[in-house]
Amino acid sequence: MNIVIFGPPGAGKGTQSSYIVKKYKLHQLSTGELLRNEIKENTELGRQISSIINSGNLVSDNIVSDLIEKFISDKTYKSRLIFDGYPRNLIQVKNLDSLLKKHNQKIDIVLKLSVSLDTIKKRISERQTLEKRADDNQKIAIKRYQMYEKNIEPVIDFYKQSKLLTVINGEKVISEINDEISGLIDSIKG
Ligand code: AMP
Repeated sequence: MNIVIFGPPGAGKGTQSSYIVKKYKLHQLSTGELLRNEIKENTELGRQISSIINSGNLVSDNIVSDLIEKFISDKTYKSRLIFDGYPRNLIQVKNLDSLLKKHNQKIDIVLKLSVSLDTIKKRISERQTLEKRADDNQKIAIKRYQMYEKNIEPVIDFYKQSKLLTVINGEKVISEINDEISGLIDSIKG
């Protein structure tokens, strides 16, 4: 089972993904985290993308496509992936689709965590104190939220039309969201 999880920064994608990972033995593939690791390890790619990420803009589609193919093509992760932060625009939707087809896989569930901007601001400021991420300040957070909303709408529409989309109220308490997602996965696994 491959899952795509959507939600603006601070929507709880990370929290929900790690819950699903543990319960269903899946692997979380967060493009944001992969990119941040490149920066942390000061690789050539990391140096190339750090100013883009720190200003809240998106990295090029080819860069992220190459990163995720490493996982899709790896037998260890075959049909065990949760895509977190990918795809983020329609080009990435098409790229993901062809990469999965090429490796005989598909997306089974698309989850959208829906959260208001006010809640996002609150959560980002809490996370800033804990994680000290360079792109987690209020101004950049609002930019990332707006960027997310702008780019993600056609992506969400695409998955709605493909009948893969489930919208989850991300304002609810974590355990309730956990239960809702588990119920959905169990119903699809049969
Ligand atoms: P995230 O952790 O998903 O909020 O991502 C943090 C940052 O990494 C984003 O603001 C982008 O700069 C970059 N990024 C993550 N995923 C993608 C993607 N699918 N396409 C382009 N840039 C991305």
